Amino acid sequence: MIKHVGVLGAGQMGNGIAHVCAQFGYNVVLFDIAAPQLDKALATIRQNLDHQTLKGATAEMVEETMGRIRPTQDMADLADCDICVEAVTEYQPLKFEIFKKLDAAVKEGAIIASNTSSIPITKIAAVTKRPDKVIGLHFMNPVPVMNLVEVIRGHATSDDTFATTAALVAKLEMEMAVSQDYPGFSVNRVLIPMINEAIFALDEGIAAVEDIDKGMELGTNRLMGPLTLADFIGLDTVLAISNVLYVGFKDPKYRPSPLLEQMVNAGYLGRKSGIGFYSY
Ligand code: NAD
Repeated sequence: MIKHVGVLGAGQMGNGIAHVCAQFGYNVVLFDIAAPQLDKALATIRQNLDHQTLKGATAEMVEETMGRIRPTQDMADLADCDICVEAVTEYQPLKFEIFKKLDAAVKEGAIIASNTSSIPITKIAAVTKRPDKVIGLHFMNPVPVMNLVEVIRGHATSDDTFATTAALVAKLEMEMAVSQDYPGFSVNRVLIPMINEAIFALDEGIAAVEDIDKGMELGTNRLMGPLTLADFIGLDTVLAISNVLYVGFKDPKYRPSPLLEQMVNAGYLGRKSGIGFYSY
């Protein structure tokens, strides 16, 4: 049974995962290498919880939730967690390094999950000595308002690990969509080529940023257009997922747009850097 949850990476996704787990009563240890990221995450969680008080949460509930989150820069503090959810930067060598260290740091029997958007769970699991305990738990952004978690079973993920993880998703009052372990799983297999194609269309001068977004938003009844969404996800993450699809399937149809690559090289990462297809 899960009582203690570890979250690795205190960025956009990590702070949201820590938020929902603490809100539903789990003790959370939030780990990051960067102290400013931990400070920023705690401030963001408090701000988002305060916002929820407008929808009926009380000040006491906010304090209780905040009290369940313990920030740390020491991975050893994750030792007693029943499940750890990794949400560090989408970079394959980094995921492998983190999973190796995490495997050695957490207690026997603990589940280690990855929030990766696209890196094969089977490959991540293979660097550990507990591949049966490794699973993909792909939360959507922003975590506190999105009701879906994509769950990905690696080649060796056990039925027990799957059942325990599914129970956690239900406890968080979220829906689950199960996907096979192929690059991009199912959500990003469809979403990222659409965003990438929007960037190609922009680069080819087919339409302006606002027109591409307006066309898709109003014309296909979406909450936001693909370029707004790209800024929201982070252009570095969009590029990383595109490359995983491109390399994983060895199919030129997934080739990342050169404009996307150039923007990432320039440090235009979207909302998190203050500039992307729009300015923030
Ligand atoms: P982010 O850039 O906001 O945060 C990444 C965090 O990882 C940072 O706080 C950074 O300090 C930390 N980090 C980097 N190296 C580390 C290390 N060695 N040890 C500990 N922490 C380290 O990224 P994000 O958008 O939160 O994405 C995190 C993961 O979630 C990625 O795998 C991404 O693909 C996935 N994801 C992202 C989205 C999205 O919309 N952004 C949606 C679903 C899944």
